Amino acid sequence: MTEKKMEEFPISDFELHLKSTVGDLHLFDYEVDINKKLNWVTKELNSDFRLPGVILTKNGEYFGFVSRKQIFERISKPFGLDLYIRRPILFFYETIDSSKILLLQSSMLVVDAVQTALQRELDHYNDPIILEFENNTKRILDSYVLMIAYSRINLLAMKALNEANELKTDLLSMAAHDLKNPISTIIGLSKLLTSLIENNNSEQMDIAININDISKGMFKIIDELLNSTVIESGRMQLRKQILDLGELVNVVIYQNKFLADKKNQIIEHYFDINDEYIILGDALKIRESIENLISNAIKYSPFNSKIAVKLEHKGKNILFSVKDNGPGINKTDMKKIFGKFQRLSALPTGNESSTGLGLFIAKQIVELHDGKLFVESELGKGSTFFIELPLSME
Ligand code: ADP
Repeated sequence: MTEKKMEEFPISDFELHLKSTVGDLHLFDYEVDINKKLNWVTKELNSDFRLPGVILTKNGEYFGFVSRKQIFERISKPFGLDLYIRRPILFFYETIDSSKILLLQSSMLVVDAVQTALQRELDHYNDPIILEFENNTKRILDSYVLMIAYSRINLLAMKALNEANELKTDLLSMAAHDLKNPISTIIGLSKLLTSLIENNNSEQMDIAININDISKGMFKIIDELLNSTVIESGRMQLRKQILDLGELVNVVIYQNKFLADKKNQIIEHYFDINDEYIILGDALKIRESIENLISNAIKYSPFNSKIAVKLEHKGKNILFSVKDNGPGINKTDMKKIFGKFQRLSALPTGNESSTGLGLFIAKQIVELHDGKLFVESELGKGSTFFIELPLSME
């Protein structure tokens, strides 16, 4: 008859790592010979409530396992106590369904063990698990210990993922940042070149203008990439000041007129030049958001079409909108349009570049100003993008 006193194998929490095996967890070890009487076993179980069950042995070898739940459930039934309590635990064991015992190798990863444990029938979800070690010894693992370890491992995994993501963002920002200066130099030099080329050499002039255009496009892409990483890391800082949205919108229209002219598009604006549309915001950032909507309308609309830019007062807010006669946005695209790197069905009509970042950045900026950016569109009937911002009360 072997009775091994209960032994617990505690492993400190911080030793848990992503590749922890079930053998690393808090385990229980309590062996009872099959000939021991059940009343003695229940007394032992009652003396330590942490013990999830007992391992049965025969001639010192593993024979089976009974959980605390199985024992107490059965002896509490009518006649259960009379039937089992004075008999050897073998008799009790023979009348229970031992096929439900989950036997796992101690080298199994905690995450895999959880998967297996959860595949058990609902009634057995909380039953303890038996672990088998290489030297054939068996120990008991309480399901709760397994689940707690699993949630801790998930937290560790999330932490590791966040760290990896931050590192990726930092590397991306560094690379993008390092590219900005050389590209600015190319923009400057190609501009200089256009003034050095003699007027009659149109081929050289075309090449220089092309270099200038392309490098400006590259600069914009880098800028958007940097902006999105700054937003993502929560490091975007606003320099808020009192602004007249009317003035800002006029400047953006003026700056984009050249692009619209190239496509023979007309930008109409519907707001009272003499009215004031005052908000409290970061001029550069708000301008960037407005610029994104107007340049998108130009980018995705056909040649010879009209774009309407509107500013209006709406209660305590100002509503800015850009309506185009482009292809419109289908239902699937609607769900993704403000996400990151979303280049969707509508394609630029004049070979313009597209990163799928503009609307993501614009929406974040507007929301940082307690505003809303949204779109209304029907496929084939153009789109209207709106920015709603609170009026400044100062
Ligand atoms: P980008 O223009 O650089 O691709 P955006 O985030 O500004 O990035 O736009 C994301 C996608 O949404 C675009 O690729 C385009 O398919 C669609 N889209 C944006 N503006 C419009 C518009 N005015 N009309 C139709 N589709 C648009």
